[in-house]
Amino acid sequence: MSTSTLTFPDRVNHLTNADLHCHSKVSDGTLEPEALAARAKANGVTLWALTDHDEVAGQQRALDAALALGLPYLTGVEVSVSFAGQVVHIVGLGFDHHNEPLLAGLRATRGGREQRAREMAAGLAQVGIKDAYEGALKYVGNPELISRTHFARFLVEAGHCSDISEVFRRYLTEGKPGYVEHRWARLGDAMRWILEAGGQAVIAHPARYSFTPTEEYALITEFIAHGGRGIEVVTGSHSDADAAKYTETALEFALLASRGSDFHSPEESRTDLGQLKDLSGRLSPIWQLLDTRIHWPPAARQ
Ligand code: AMP
Ligand code: MN
Ligand code: MN
Ligand code: MN
Repeated sequence: MSTSTLTFPDRVNHLTNADLHCHSKVSDGTLEPEALAARAKANGVTLWALTDHDEVAGQQRALDAALALGLPYLTGVEVSVSFAGQVVHIVGLGFDHHNEPLLAGLRATRGGREQRAREMAAGLAQVGIKDAYEGALKYVGNPELISRTHFARFLVEAGHCSDISEVFRRYLTEGKPGYVEHRWARLGDAMRWILEAGGQAVIAHPARYSFTPTEEYALITEFIAHGGRGIEVVTGSHSDADAAKYTETALEFALLASRGSDFHSPEESRTDLGQLKDLSGRLSPIWQLLDTRIHWPPAARQ
């Protein structure tokens, strides 16, 4: 069969080197969208999505850069959701990044971050860490998206901890001085924004939550009831054992599998773009459902 007779679905399968989860300076990554596109391409990624937290302002840049490099692209976002007393991340893929209700929903989700950051700084000041808000701001690329990661970078720079994960452990997780409860988007709202903008929703890094089995069952069944079709199985946030466990979960609930490094920074991230194990051949990848939403570089379209 010649290349010209291939239909798009034939071009992606479970062995596609898809990396559908990473962050740029538009949220809490350290690289610009263009640099991420180049890194993804250099690392052999063949289908890419930038998924900044609660923000799609980097999407056009990522899309343009990817297509210029001959790299197929899916739009992406990682929405912060509150569910059963925890923060759950829902990745949206393949949506129209100009869709107004989606943009409004994300804007509302970002809305409380500045106030939260000021409260975090107040908590840190109580244990003797001064001017953390100003310190974190130095690392922020998007003023609407100050995150715990920016505080963590500042605390390492200021010598309070030796690395980012120590900062989270000692200062930025529940019960610690810099942690502030926050109300994020509701699951059903996040799902509606993504789906009505033409995209598909994926539960991000399910092994990262500390749900009981009953709570996890509630998350997955509510997600499916709201139209959710995907779950991350192979991600930089999962061990091999986690990937094996969520392979079974995906099969049990007939969910499609996703794959993404969750890359944030060359200095901080364990897993680089494109450096992930393959999905099990027993799984159906979410990118096959999204084939009509993939932006193909001009050369691949002939
Ligand atoms: P926020 O949205 O401000 O609550 O920040 C969440 C971000 O913090 C996540 O997307 C990760 O990038 C980062 N993060 C959360 N927990 C950890 C951890 N234990 N170690 C390193 N980074 C973390
Ligand atoms: Mn992050
Ligand atoms: Mn996440
Ligand atoms: Mn992420």
